[in-house]
Amino acid sequence: MATRKPKALPAAQVLAALSGLLGNGGIRVVDLTQTLTPDFPQIALPPEMGQCWPFRIEEASRYDERGPGWYWNNFSCGEHTGTHFDAPIHWVSGRDLPNNAVDTIPVQHFVAPACVIDCSRQAKADPDFLLGIKHVKAWEKKHGRIPPGSWVLMRTDWSRHWSRTASDAAATRAQLAAAAKAYQNFDETGQHTPGPDADVVRFLVEERDVLGFGTEAIGTDAGQGYHLKPPYPCHYFMHGAGRYGLQCLTNLDQLPPTGAVLVCPPLKIQQGSGSPLRVLALVDGQ
Ligand code: MN
Repeated sequence: MATRKPKALPAAQVLAALSGLLGNGGIRVVDLTQTLTPDFPQIALPPEMGQCWPFRIEEASRYDERGPGWYWNNFSCGEHTGTHFDAPIHWVSGRDLPNNAVDTIPVQHFVAPACVIDCSRQAKADPDFLLGIKHVKAWEKKHGRIPPGSWVLMRTDWSRHWSRTASDAAATRAQLAAAAKAYQNFDETGQHTPGPDADVVRFLVEERDVLGFGTEAIGTDAGQGYHLKPPYPCHYFMHGAGRYGLQCLTNLDQLPPTGAVLVCPPLKIQQGSGSPLRVLALVDGQ
């Protein structure tokens, strides 16, 4: 017997309810964004390759002779600096897709539900932890099937390596440098941070029709993702299928496994491959 779907509420009624609940805290807004500072750990490629600029900021005036009544800064950074969005055009597999850059992606995609898979225990035990299909299926057994068009966010608490120190106003340069080192987690064999395996990325794209994949580490792929087949499978399969990436997320521990709505529009850079952005999650605040 077919199950009957609940009748959808009229959109005007939903929007009015949303406004009311945002106003009275019935819906809470959680910030999933790391603060952009010059100290934030930057993705590092082998030196012979093109590099992504770190965040730099310079004061233009601050109520002084350079501008008596106003304060403002100039800044520069790469498209993949800080908490940021990856567009399909970022990867060679997505280079020829339609609407594959941040300025042409349908804006409807920037507001979407999120499923949060808690891998914090595994990532704590093993920085090279790879999320696999079996973990997703175990999650679905508890929380239901991942709906099409959802973000899948891999919670690892990896962000804490940085944010715990960065949020302490008394942190010294040496402490910040140590936190950046722990967040990057390089050794002589490369970077060691958790991410998805190749099979689960294909599964999420082909069997679950997800919108994208988000992580707390510096990339959507694991630190050792180069050694997977294909190398960097999350970039390769997600972007090859026109899906998106979010990385350097934080506060995923404040999200429920299902039910959050993500608001994450990147900057409208012409033919941009990604951009730093503010990532917000609407959650049940009751
Ligand atoms: Mn990126």
